[in-house]
Amino acid sequence: MIRMTNVSKKYPNGVTAIKDLSLTIESGEFAYIVGPSGAGKSTFIKMLYHQLRATSGKIEVAGFDLIGMKDRDVPYLRRKIGVVFQDFKLLPRLTVFENVAYAMEVIEAQPQAIKDRVLEVLELVGLKGEIRRFPNELSGGEQQRVAVARAIVNQPEVLIADEPTGNLDPETSDGIMDILEAINQRGTIVLMATHNKQMVNERTHRVLAIEDGRLVRDEKEGDYGYED
Ligand code: ADP
Ligand code: ADP
Repeated sequence: MIRMTNVSKKYPNGVTAIKDLSLTIESGEFAYIVGPSGAGKSTFIKMLYHQLRATSGKIEVAGFDLIGMKDRDVPYLRRKIGVVFQDFKLLPRLTVFENVAYAMEVIEAQPQAIKDRVLEVLELVGLKGEIRRFPNELSGGEQQRVAVARAIVNQPEVLIADEPTGNLDPETSDGIMDILEAINQRGTIVLMATHNKQMVNERTHRVLAIEDGRLVRDEKEGDYGYED
């Protein structure tokens, strides 16, 4: 579960990017985060995986209280949260297998468990045949599928995707969405910030709209609601 209560974030330069925002996302939900550029979507997302600390309010994610959290506990939170970025952020010198395995190595999983689980998630994303390739040998869509595999390999409660289809063509984007929806079907919260109007309108899920740091719309099966 994710719960924000009266959360605000003020940057050191004085910009208040999130203003008194409250919401709850229950286990198993799929929610889009929409809104104009500069609205605060990235700030919102970064607070959830503790890349940024809120200035005030309360944030709970997967049983962790992020406001009072000690730095040494952040790795335990990160095990419960997978993150996927627009630009994939794969390690270029590691193979597909190694990129995904690395996320399990850092939590000190056993070698056999790593091998089994990495192959399982790569099969889920349709890349079992590409395990020895390097990122630069893959298409954008394939790279994003590796990034999704890496994000879910430790079975997180929450998968956060920040513009995951932003660099992909519509057909490839559909493939990524199929995977995100399949992951959600297995019980993982999926939270996806996006400007992909067509996707939001065709594959209806909860829509959270942020404008000027505030939650201005929260609809169970909403539409995108903007022209871009
Ligand atoms: P979005 O992801 O919706 O485009 P952001 O969260 O990136 O919005 O930005 C929200 C507001 O906070 C904008 O006014 C932006 O200029 C400002 N902002 C974002 N990051 C920083 C930062 N590191 N320092 C100061 N202001 C920032
Ligand atoms: P080089 O071959 O230039 O020494 P490396 O292959 O050591 O470079 O590192 C390339 C990138 O991959 C770096 O960002 C590094 O932190 C990362 N990296 C290196 N080894 C591993 C590993 N076993 N698992 C995950 N990431 C690694």
